Order: sequence, then C-alpha cells, then structure tokens
Amino acid sequence: MDRVYNFSAGPSMLPLEVLETAASEMTNYKGSGMSVMEMSHRSKEFDGIIKDAENLLRELMSIPENYKVLFLQGGASTQFAMVPLNLFRNSKKADFIITGSWAEKAAQEAARYGTANILASSKADVFSYIPKVDKSKYSPDADYFYITTNNTIYGTRYTTLPETGNVPLVGDMSSNILSQVYDVSKFGLIFAGAQKNIGPAGVTVAIIRDDLIGHAMDITPTMLNYKTHAENDSLYNTPPTFAIYIAKLTFEWVKKLGGVAAIQKMNEEKAALLYDYIDNSSLFKNPVAKEDRSLMNITFVTGSEELDKKFIAEAKQQGLVALGGHRSVGGMRASIYNAMPIEGVQKLVNLMKKFEMENK
Ligand SMILES: *Cc1c(COP(=O)(O)O)cnc(C)c1O
Repeated sequence: MDRVYNFSAGPSMLPLEVLETAASEMTNYKGSGMSVMEMSHRSKEFDGIIKDAENLLRELMSIPENYKVLFLQGGASTQFAMVPLNLFRNSKKADFIITGSWAEKAAQEAARYGTANILASSKADVFSYIPKVDKSKYSPDADYFYITTNNTIYGTRYTTLPETGNVPLVGDMSSNILSQVYDVSKFGLIFAGAQKNIGPAGVTVAIIRDDLIGHAMDITPTMLNYKTHAENDSLYNTPPTFAIYIAKLTFEWVKKLGGVAAIQKMNEEKAALLYDYIDNSSLFKNPVAKEDRSLMNITFVTGSEELDKKFIAEAKQQGLVALGGHRSVGGMRASIYNAMPIEGVQKLVNLMKKFEMENK
C-alpha cells in the first residue's frame, strides 16, 4: 500500500521529509557509527540534537529569554498533575474554563491538590463552543488560569486568549502548538504532548516562565518538579532521546517552510477549503460555533450514523484514513495538522462532494 492521507488525531501524520531523513540516518547518525536510539544521552552528538531542538523551538515560537524550554515525559496527561503541584503556592486555587474532556481531566487532577474553580463549561452542549467569561468573574487571587487552546476531540479553539493580568495563564497546546502564531509572553506556562504537531509520542514540551519554577508543593515527586528538569537542561534522567531527535527534524522542517506564520497561512487555507465546502453542503454539517472553529481538528456529521459509517469506509478505500470521530462523540473528524498537505484536504473535499451526490 502507498502512503495514505492520515487524518488521525494523534499520533498523527509526520512530514514525509522528516521520516525520510530519520530513515537515512537510522543506522549511522552523521558518522557516529550508531543510531540516535543507541547513543548516550550524555554524548556530544545527542547534546547537539537536544540543543538544536531547543534553539529551533525558541526561534520558531519567539520564546522570550525568561522562559525555560523543557523536554519531559508522561504525555500531556502528566502535566495535569504537574501544573498544580508546581503552581499551587499561595491560594492553592486555579480558574478553569472547561472546553472539553482534557480540561475536565486537568481540573479533576488539580482538585486533588487544591481548588479547581470552574468558571464556565460548555459540556451541556457537547463542548461545541468556547464559553465567553466576563473578566469580573476571574479570581484575582488564583495561582493560575487554565485553558486548552485547541480542543482536539470537539474541534474548537480559542481565537482570543483570556486577559488574566498577573495571574499566570496556563495553556494545554497539545493539538495546536506551532500551527498558528502565539505570543508566548501571554502565558506563564505552555505544554504540549508531541504526537500531534511535533513528533512521535513520548516527549512533552513545556515552556515555562522562570518565576514559576522553584515553588513546588513539598509532596511533589522529584521527577514532577519543573525545577529538576530546568536545572538539568532536561537531562536529569534519560530523556526520550529518539522522540526529541524527531522533534528537532520537525522543527527544521517548519523553519524551512517559512516558520509558524507561513504554516499558519497554509493551515488557514486548508481549513477554509473544508469549512467552506461543509457550509455549502446539504449533507455534511459542522456542529461547532463558527467563531470558535479549530484549524486543526474539523468535525462533521451527516446526521445519520449509518451514512457516517459508510463515508468513513469509502474514504478509507480511497486512502483517506482515520476519519472517524472520537469514540465519545462519533461522526467524523479530519485532523489536519501541519504535516497534512493541502492535497489531502482537497482529496477529502472531492470525496465528500461525490458522496453527497450519491447519497442525497
Ligand atoms: C492528546 C491530548 C492530550 C493527551 O495527551 P497524552 O500525551 O496522551 O497524555 C491532552 N490534551 C490535549 C489538548 C490533547 O490533544
């Protein structure tokens, strides 16, 4: 079988170029005589890889000097505990906006160590929109304010960030990091599991402002303390070396394409192609509030479970795979991360048009 257009929400498509470079270096990385998988994390070669990865990400996201970039393990889900363990220091209270099950899990985890104050939730409407919350409702004494910038399962995203003043904004950016330009200085902490827009599962990137490091609760395990990793340049213990190497190759690829602003433009074009068609379709509907639509995960339904199934099966036959919606919501979801070429989206739209004609 040829390579397919893979619409999986994660782990997801990687740029072919990245995979080919990794393949060509697989058994002998730059004359070292070994694979990156086989080399010491303390070796000169790996030191070059992790430093390049950090510097490239700093450049791509214009990360200010007073932020640390950490390569961690445990996935985004471990951050749900790490954030409160490290950031609860005064009121031990955080404000949450619940825009999906990831934010819900983060709030549940925070509630084990302090108070998770739910400002708003769109759960009653299947998380089909981002709640607008008046600033007067924010807790001025919160230790942090938590959002999920892009909601992978439901297909929504924040288009404007909450203005939280002195309260550090924490963003789970797992499914849209590097997809659009963000002002990192608006956040106290950003984290992202790699397997959507960065690389393979196994590494989680955290971007954290210096002043938020070093105040972890006493009960915090050493490995869950940002300070441990910040003081050791992410080499306190063996990091996920191969995943960091692939992340570095992806960062190089993003840079070669013109950086995040250029990628954002491509992502907007790809998403518009799909949304414009859906908006004019009499069969397919996008169940999300228009102003909150995600650029990365586009959900759609026919209204008939049977037709949904039929569409997913036909798409698979055409080499358009993993279009089933999350198991909790059903329907379809096209995850069109950075690595999805516009040709894949065009092919999907063409198939949807054909399917609509045939199933009126
Ligand atoms: C995928 C995802 C997660 C979970 O990531 P893991 O690495 O599996 O823990 C959390 N948040 C968001 C927004 C995600 O897309």
